Amino acid sequence: MQEYEAVIGLEIHAQLKTRSKMFCGSDNHSIEADPNTNVCPVCMGFPGTLPVPNRQAIEWTMLLGMALEAKIAEEFNFERKNYFYPDLPKAYQISSATNPPVIGGGLKIDVNGAEREIHLHHIHLEEDAGKLVHAKNGTSLVDLNRAGTPLVEMVTEPDLRSGAEARVFMQTLRSLLRHLQISDANMEQGNLRCDVNISLRKYDEKKLGAKVEVKNMNSFKMIERAVNYEIERQSDLLNDGKKIYQETRGWDDSKGKTLGQRSKEEAHDYRYFPEPDIPPITTRKGDENAIDLEKIKSMMPELPWEKKARFALEYGLNKKDANYLADDLDMANYFEKTLEHIGETAKNSEIMKNYAIRLANWMTSELAGKMNEISIGISEIKIEPENMAELMASIEKGAISGKQAKQVFAEMFKTGKSCYGIIEERGMKQITDTGEIGKIIDDVLEANPKVVEDYKSGKEKAFGFLVGQVMAKTRGQANPKAVNETLARKLGNSN
Ligand SMILES: [Zn+2]
Repeated sequence: MQEYEAVIGLEIHAQLKTRSKMFCGSDNHSIEADPNTNVCPVCMGFPGTLPVPNRQAIEWTMLLGMALEAKIAEEFNFERKNYFYPDLPKAYQISSATNPPVIGGGLKIDVNGAEREIHLHHIHLEEDAGKLVHAKNGTSLVDLNRAGTPLVEMVTEPDLRSGAEARVFMQTLRSLLRHLQISDANMEQGNLRCDVNISLRKYDEKKLGAKVEVKNMNSFKMIERAVNYEIERQSDLLNDGKKIYQETRGWDDSKGKTLGQRSKEEAHDYRYFPEPDIPPITTRKGDENAIDLEKIKSMMPELPWEKKARFALEYGLNKKDANYLADDLDMANYFEKTLEHIGETAKNSEIMKNYAIRLANWMTSELAGKMNEISIGISEIKIEPENMAELMASIEKGAISGKQAKQVFAEMFKTGKSCYGIIEERGMKQITDTGEIGKIIDDVLEANPKVVEDYKSGKEKAFGFLVGQVMAKTRGQANPKAVNETLARKLGNSN
C-alpha cells in the first residue's frame, strides 16, 4: 500500500449582506421573501437594462482582502462568464475572476495546536444565479430572488492537506466574515458555500495529480467527511493501478460518499470577455469614482485573532476560553457587555479579572451546555447581560451558594427573569456570618453529645454528620466553607 499526500484547495462563496443586490436596487434579503418578489428588470435579465455596481460590495471585498493582508488591485474589471442555465436569464454571469480586485493574502489556522498559514490565490466579486425548485410533480420552478445577489469568491492555493484542515479553515473564515460583519456566513442557510479540489501525489513528487472537485457540502462536518472519503477513494484507485480522471463529484451525506456528476469543463468554455456596460473600477487616488482605500482601512474592526489575544491579556483568560469567546462576535460582545455591567461595582483590574474568569467559566460550561441542549445561539438567549452580571456579583459576594447559583441560572435561562428578582422570590440567601453560623453549630453540638464524643474518639465520619445537621437547620443556606471552618474550630477548642 502506497501512502499519498493530499493536495487540497478550496473555492469558497460567501454572500455579502448588503442592503441591495450586486448590480441593481432589488432587496438582497431573499431568504424570507416569497419567490420572485425581490426582483427587477436588471436581475431578471431583461434586454436593454444596465447594471450599476454596488459600491458597498466592492468596499467589503477589499476590506476582507485587507484583513487577509492581500494586495488590493489598482484596477480591476467585471467580465461576462457565458453559460446557459434556466436560473440565469441573461445567459451570462457578471464576475471579476480573471482580473480580480484582491490578489494573494492568507489566513492562519490552528489545527489541534499546530498553526499553519493557508495562502489565497485571489478574491473576486460576482453575482449569484437564481434557484431552481424541483416540484414533486416533475416540473421545475424558477425563483430569481437570489439572482444578482453579491458573492465574494475566495480561491485558496492548494495548501491544505486533510479534511480537518479544510474544516478548520472554513470555521476560521466564518469567524472572520462575521467579525467584519459583511456576511452571515451560515453554511446551513447556503450563504457560505465551499467546493473542494482534491488531488493526490506521492510524497516525493512535485507534480499535481488529476484534480477532483467535490460539491454539495453544507456543513463544516460534511467538508471534513467528504475530503477524508475522497482521499481514501483516490488512494484505493491509485493502489489498484487505476487512473484518476478530472471530474466533478457531489457529496451524498446520507450515503457518506461522493458520487460522480460530470467531467469538468475547461475554463475557456465560458468565453469570458470584459463587461462592456461597466467601466474598470480603480483604487488610484484622484481617479474619477475611485474606491477610497483609506476609508476602507478606517472601517477595519478588531479581528478575531486580535480579540483572542486581547481577551487573554486583558482579562487573564486561558487560551481555550479566550478562543471560544472571541471566535463568535456575538458571544464576545455578550461577554464584554456583561463585564461592563459588573464594572460599575468593580473598578479594580484584579477584581475585574476574577469576574472575567468566573464569567468565562459560566459561559463556556453552564451557558454553552444550556444553549446546546436546545440548539440556540447566544443572540437568541433570554438572559440579558445585565442580569448575568447580577448573577456573577451574587456569587462573588457570597449572597448565594454555588448550588443556588445553578438553580437561579436555570430559571434565568428559561424565563429571562432578573437574577435579583429570582433570589428574592425564592427567599434565597446564603448565611456567611460566622456569628450566626456559630450559634446554630452550638445548638447542633448540644443536641448531639454522642456524636461529639465519637468525633473526639477519632471517628472522622462524625464531622460530616454534624455539618449535615447544620446545613439541614439552615435549609442549605449556610456557606459550607464557613460551616466547616467554624465547626472545626469549635470542636478543636472544646478539646
Ligand atoms: Zn434587481
